[in-house]
Amino acid sequence: MAADDRNAFEVYRDRVDRPLLRLFREYGAPEAHWLVIGMAANVVARVAGLVPPVVLGVAIDAVFTGNGPYTLPIVPDAWLPTAGPAQFRLSVALIVGSFLVTGVFTYVYGIAANNFAHRVMHSVRTDSFDQMQRLDMTFFDDKQTGEVMSVLNNDASNLEVFLDNALQNSARLGVMVVGIAGVLFYYNHELAVVTLSAIPLMILFTLWFMRAVEPRYVAQRSVVGDLNTALENALSGVELVKTSNTEAHESDRVETASKQYFERTMSILRLNFVYRPGMELFAGLAFAATFAVGGYWLSAGPPGPFSTTLTVGTFVTFVLLTQQFVAPLAEVSNIIDQYENAKASCERVFGLRDIPIRITDDDDASDLGGGNDADADAAADPDHGGVAGAVEYDDVSFAYAENALVDPEDADEEVIRNVSFEADPGDTVALVGPTGAGKSTLLKLLLRLYDATEGAVRVDGHDVRDVTVESLRSNVGYVAQDTTLFDGTIAENIRYGRFTGADTESEGGAAGETKVRERVIEAAKAAEAHEFIDSLPDGYDTRIGEQGVKLSGGQRQRVAIARVVLQDPAILILDEATSAVDTETEMLIQRSLDELAADRTTFVIAHRLSTVTDADLTLVLEDGAVVERGTHDGLLDADGLYAKLWGVQAGEIDELPEEFVERARERHVDRAVERAIEEGSVESETLDD
Ligand code: ADP
Repeated sequence: MAADDRNAFEVYRDRVDRPLLRLFREYGAPEAHWLVIGMAANVVARVAGLVPPVVLGVAIDAVFTGNGPYTLPIVPDAWLPTAGPAQFRLSVALIVGSFLVTGVFTYVYGIAANNFAHRVMHSVRTDSFDQMQRLDMTFFDDKQTGEVMSVLNNDASNLEVFLDNALQNSARLGVMVVGIAGVLFYYNHELAVVTLSAIPLMILFTLWFMRAVEPRYVAQRSVVGDLNTALENALSGVELVKTSNTEAHESDRVETASKQYFERTMSILRLNFVYRPGMELFAGLAFAATFAVGGYWLSAGPPGPFSTTLTVGTFVTFVLLTQQFVAPLAEVSNIIDQYENAKASCERVFGLRDIPIRITDDDDASDLGGGNDADADAAADPDHGGVAGAVEYDDVSFAYAENALVDPEDADEEVIRNVSFEADPGDTVALVGPTGAGKSTLLKLLLRLYDATEGAVRVDGHDVRDVTVESLRSNVGYVAQDTTLFDGTIAENIRYGRFTGADTESEGGAAGETKVRERVIEAAKAAEAHEFIDSLPDGYDTRIGEQGVKLSGGQRQRVAIARVVLQDPAILILDEATSAVDTETEMLIQRSLDELAADRTTFVIAHRLSTVTDADLTLVLEDGAVVERGTHDGLLDADGLYAKLWGVQAGEIDELPEEFVERARERHVDRAVERAIEEGSVESETLDD
């Protein structure tokens, strides 16, 4: 039983440690040169920005008022001119030069910083998508698609914003604070103390803000999940919503979640509204104090404890630099906002990344052969590229493990119990039995959508776990009950997974394309789909809408059959449609299926027993176990469940005899007791009594 209610994604997300550090290690490192260039250019641009106020101050003192010498920080005096006009020209040149440097380096910084951020975002997005594709079916059983979408979209963008804006703004802030403080101390350490006394207050204020805002971000994020779920449910279940008249109910749900989101966002913004003006107020006070103290100093000499001289030029430098503080400080709340978002996004990115993939190739997995072979003769190849298609189930048991991704030991009750049988190449095996008996599950083990918990499934004598997943799946064709088609043309859907652009290239461009088209049409003919496709407005190039909604169920299924004809697999799985199609369509589908099944090992999940009377082997499943097996005639003679089901379907008897219904009930009771003993809520001795 599940150890906790959270899905695998949430569990792994919560386990992520130091997400941003990991982001820099795993994704930042390969692009580090962009970051370094960006940071360096940013620093140069900001430092150059400090030059005009400094030069202006010096020029005022040396050139205009004659109050001091013409000296510049760092630059040796010997390099500087001594005559007034030359000093003035140099000052102008320095100011113009510093603006040029700022401009050029801001450009370099923009290019480099964005390259870094977008390259990292690109890798995060593609890696997350690849990971998503590799994840086991167990992951998707928990319906976590909305969360994955959000990782691929929002989270990747959040990281981009953080890596670009937040990182560079922090660098700018650092340079400004350190650079300005340095210059101020260099010129007049006493007035610098007055000006910079606001900094400790600003730091305290910022710490207070961060502590107050963090829990509000956590609260906001938790409602984002609810809101997404509400939106997704309503969208994906739109047909159900309409038919059950629950529009108002769904609207309520979205409204509640959206309202909560609004409230929590506002509570963050209210703090921001205090923080930003607060910071500006501190900066303004620093400015006012500098102006007041400096102004008094100039007119009446050093106030109070101060003793140094202050020149007009230095005073101007102070006033100008103090003003430059304000803009970067006001960015602090944005930086914090972006940092908080990025941290949460990063946790989700790595949470997804850390989910283990259990169904994957062993290091020494071999290639089964055959399969995805684009050469022109493959369709006519009777031996399927060397794969004969013998299938063996050897004492196979299986349990869906709800939390298998978190704890592999955490298995639910078995839905397949000790199933053994063999199918020779070319055989047709029918699986029959009540809904929920495990027919689909049994065949998903052959496709390795799940792995058997006990026993082995073998193809041509190879355990399916010992061959590559790709070679296995390319040799097994699957026609599902509910066919999935993509939005695209019919031709694209038929050739999906068969011919890539590269294949047609190798066959010679346009000529290759024509050849492929011929084979698509051939396949459609074999699937009895050619006629209806031909009658569509654009024939094979007709677009069929999302999930193929513009086709009827019967048409979709024939397109799917054509796809498998093209695949030409050694083994075929047919999940017979339960939904009723008209008799004519059914006949067409049946004919195409018979043809498709003719020269390959075929498994049919049969809902109408009349379609599988010719099967070489029929397995009757009940509660995950094979309860009867044989041919149609043999099973009728045995007069068990199959014979009764046949009777009901043929209209000879009205309903299943009570004994079978009773047996099914008993099994469920037995299983409930087994579970209770396993969980320790009941002692087995008590039951024996
Ligand atoms: P059938 O194809 O005979 O109708 P299934 O193989 O679909 O039966 O289902 C067998 C049992 O496994 C049922 O009890 C069903 O509820 C359960 N089951 C099917 N799919 C899943 C899944 N993805 N996760 C958990 N349990 C499942």
